[in-house]
Amino acid sequence: MLFDTHAHLNDTQYNEDLEEVIERAQTEGVSNMVIVGFDRPTIQRAMELVERYDFMFACVGWHPVDAIDMTDEDLAWIEELTSHPKVVAIGEMGLDYHWDKSPKDIQKEVFRKQIRLAKKVKLPIVIHNREATADIVEILKEEEAEEVGGIMHCFSGSPEVAKECVKMNFYISLGGPVTFKNAKKPKEVAAEVPLEKLLIETDCPYLAPHPYRGKRNEPGYVKLVAEQIAEIKGLTFEEVAEATTQNAKKLFGIK
Ligand SMILES: [Zn+2]
Repeated sequence: MLFDTHAHLNDTQYNEDLEEVIERAQTEGVSNMVIVGFDRPTIQRAMELVERYDFMFACVGWHPVDAIDMTDEDLAWIEELTSHPKVVAIGEMGLDYHWDKSPKDIQKEVFRKQIRLAKKVKLPIVIHNREATADIVEILKEEEAEEVGGIMHCFSGSPEVAKECVKMNFYISLGGPVTFKNAKKPKEVAAEVPLEKLLIETDCPYLAPHPYRGKRNEPGYVKLVAEQIAEIKGLTFEEVAEATTQNAKKLFGIK
């Protein structure tokens, strides 16, 4: 049993072969997945998918790269969707300083608004961080995000930052990069963060693990992430699969 906590099967890249992708995931032992929507079209599609498949859950929010486009109506719509029983988290939200489509101050404001919404509706949050660690940690502290906690998605920081996030009630989610030969930090994080605080994800269609690096990713490949963590921690694959699945179910409130 594996839980892919961050998948974008709502991406148009799966329009042609979604059923086959899902079948392969199930063959690899993926029992649950969270489909993440981060703008109008991807949220809409995520909701369609979770209505259709009982093993899929949704995370809805607004991506920091597109923060400049988020209107009050968008935020109100996201709030409405949180009452849907299959919406289990809000995000992905955060800061992305790699792309400059949205100015930093707008990104921060949109991030803060979503944290406040999550606290209002009592759902965990999913954090996207690109080159913005210090500002993210500061905002999480100022907004007292600890109250809802959540996930540092596809975590790429140091073990020190990971531990600081764990103290703030966040899980550390590892994806494809932990399997890359030259990925020093994700491997250190896998070694040092306790299993009770780790989650696994694909972030598909992005960040496919070794040996599929550079290709389209899919939920079935999350098995390779779990295998890599098991190897690093000196545990069995089953132990990592079981623990990360239970962690995810606990966080998302899934029985
Ligand atoms: Zn994502």
